[in-house]
Amino acid sequence: MRRLLFVANWKTHLGPDEARAYLKTFLAQYRPTEGREVWFFPPAVSVEAVAQTIRHQAGLLAGAQNVYWEPKGAFTGEISAPLAAAAGARAVLIGHSERRHVFGESDADTERKLSAVLDAKLVPVLCVGETLAEREAGQTLGVVTRQLEAALGRRQPAALQHVTVAYEPVWAIGTGKNATPHDAADVHRDIRRWLAARGAKTPRILYGGSVNLKNAAELLAERELDGVLVGGASLDPEAWGALVRTAAD
Ligand code: PEP
Repeated sequence: MRRLLFVANWKTHLGPDEARAYLKTFLAQYRPTEGREVWFFPPAVSVEAVAQTIRHQAGLLAGAQNVYWEPKGAFTGEISAPLAAAAGARAVLIGHSERRHVFGESDADTERKLSAVLDAKLVPVLCVGETLAEREAGQTLGVVTRQLEAALGRRQPAALQHVTVAYEPVWAIGTGKNATPHDAADVHRDIRRWLAARGAKTPRILYGGSVNLKNAAELLAERELDGVLVGGASLDPEAWGALVRTAAD
């Protein structure tokens, strides 16, 4: 049976009370479905509220949008992977394009974070993707491969099994311009080949970038997509509830 993962990235929205109110609406119409999972990535201050609210719900999980690589210490303003885990996170986004392009996170940083996340027994969701200029210069594969190599190149196959990769072209995030299913699938195939060559047999590869209720079915009809990572369109609990029910075979 096809497994699908729906990831909601709330970015810098929804504090603890708003997160609980959101989940009340979402859970009122949520029915667990075999083969489907829904993961929520709230801002750090709301991770515990989300994790607590969904703790008895099948198919749902809370994650953190970012962590620092050191487990603890004098790093004012940061949270670590063990702290995220203590708040109830089970997964962490790594290398989201806003981390890379707004906060200057480097490829080397993604490797340190990935290592810390695996050490804390959390699931890394590694985000990769090219800018518009890189795409137009025909560099998509080169950029994605460089990002994979930096973050995962030194990992053993057993560790790679635990990694989820999200292909998120930078030009598609928050712009209303999604990649076509065909274009996304081409890059997914390359990512899958790269992972398979290093011993990861059944990696999960998500597509992210302006996914919404209108285009989700068409994107998910492409079987290279093991799910979607959604920002803006995950902020309305009713629309998100409908999106995670999107028909796909
Ligand atoms: C994201 O935050 O990773 C994302 C894909 O955002 P959006 O769905 O708003 O493009």
